[in-house]
Amino acid sequence: MAISTLTHMWNGKLQSGTKSNIERIDPSNGELLTLVPDGTTDDADKAIDSARRAFDDGPWRHLSGIERAKYINLLADLLDRNIDKFAPIEAKETGKTLSLARNDVVNSANLFRYAASLAMTMHGDVHTNLGKGFTGLITRVPVGVAALITPWNFPLLLMAQKLPFAIGAGCTVVLKPSEYTSSTSSMFAELVNEAKIPDGVINIVLGYGHTVGQHLIEHPDVDFVSFTGSTRTGRAVIEASKLTLKRTSMELGGKSANIVFSDAVIDDAIDGVLFGILFNNGECCVSGSRLLVEESIADSFVDKLSERMSKMKVGDPLNAGVDIGPMIHPGHLDSVIEHIEKAVKQGATIATGGARLVTGELNKGCFMAPTIVDHVTSKHKIFHDEVFGPVLTVTRFKDTTEAIQIANSVKYGLAASVWSKSLDTTLDMASELRAGTVWINTTIDGSPQLPGGGVKESGFGREMGQAGFDEFTEVKTIQIRTGARNHFFK
Ligand code: NDP
Repeated sequence: MAISTLTHMWNGKLQSGTKSNIERIDPSNGELLTLVPDGTTDDADKAIDSARRAFDDGPWRHLSGIERAKYINLLADLLDRNIDKFAPIEAKETGKTLSLARNDVVNSANLFRYAASLAMTMHGDVHTNLGKGFTGLITRVPVGVAALITPWNFPLLLMAQKLPFAIGAGCTVVLKPSEYTSSTSSMFAELVNEAKIPDGVINIVLGYGHTVGQHLIEHPDVDFVSFTGSTRTGRAVIEASKLTLKRTSMELGGKSANIVFSDAVIDDAIDGVLFGILFNNGECCVSGSRLLVEESIADSFVDKLSERMSKMKVGDPLNAGVDIGPMIHPGHLDSVIEHIEKAVKQGATIATGGARLVTGELNKGCFMAPTIVDHVTSKHKIFHDEVFGPVLTVTRFKDTTEAIQIANSVKYGLAASVWSKSLDTTLDMASELRAGTVWINTTIDGSPQLPGGGVKESGFGREMGQAGFDEFTEVKTIQIRTGARNHFFK
């Protein structure tokens, strides 16, 4: 694959970097893959200025919803048309399999289409029973310039959970992707030009979070920050946003439980638990990284699960038949292994995997064996920490009450899955689990219509669905008096 040098975008034009480049190394083989401009605060200023002027003085927020939707639908069509260009580079940079990367492009296009439909139907409310002569209009207006900051695990898809909703509401945006996976955001800039989106509506600045990301958050001309990333960085973002009392939306980390009762369809539950932890190499915010399994079936469940997991094929994500690609970078691989080593020191046992894979070509990359860490309790550090890799912990429970207590005993609250044939059990669990999303007899499913987001230290605000669209709007109240005024001071 040829090495590409990426560009930023502002004022409707692709912009070359002014400083040095950041080297993105292919996590499969250690070779140079992409050169990413190391954006400066000066670059961020230009992108913000472009977005500000386009919002304040440009046509975008004055277009009808139908006109904005036309542009957004065109971007969706262009994404679909460019799937063969986008998917391989997305797979290479993130380490996800090619088929997953293709799904991400298709799902991103669908998010654009759904956001276009919400742009068309954006409307307010009218109150006519406020007393004679009074009418109240509750309107929704775009929040202004939105900074969109995304992590490395789903670069295109997470951009699509934000950007079309923001511009659909009439905002202008500055997108800052992770420097590990900036290619598809930069390639998207070319589609923005092809769709003839008015200048300055979509701006992209590449580089590090601690420079350009931080600057976007602190800048007074940015009205709203939509952030997806770790809880640790989320705290820094909130800290920086205090300076200008900026509104933020926080999609943060997770430690989701996959809870299996003895009356579940066991083969389905095994498949679901496997998918829940191995999807996207386990580098997914809603990964079902904690298996909670009813004591009576635990040993046989873990045996069957281990057998299936040990057959997973790990390798270069572009190769056919590969189930799991490399971890995102060497430092991350080290931290995944460290989590496992600490757990073993604390008394947990390894049912399968547990180490880096180094045979043959795998030696050149950041490959991790899919792992099950058994006999984990809430006393273990690994029970609480987001490992963000193909590493499942197993904890046993006696009954529903204990399952709820164990599931809720972490600081995160992003998602949970429940596997049981009993409606009583599943609905009781769904109402008691402290999570933004609960899946019943399925896991990591989603649709553009369904909002996603977290509670507790998994963040606040929602993406997708009507709720995700509304994040990019402010409510403005307009009150009208008709007829003669009844004078207050006689
Ligand atoms: P990080 O929090 O490290 O980074 C996320 C983004 O924030 C990157 O673009 C990063 O840039 C940027 N950033 C870093 N520091 C700052 C700063 N001070 N100010 C502004 N921006 C900054 O997350 P990862 O990229 O490591 O992604 C993994 C994390 O994301 C996991 O915790 C995962 O759970 C979470 N996530 C949450 C999702 C959700 O919907 N809740 C979905 C997907 C992932 P740079 O890369 O240059 O540091």
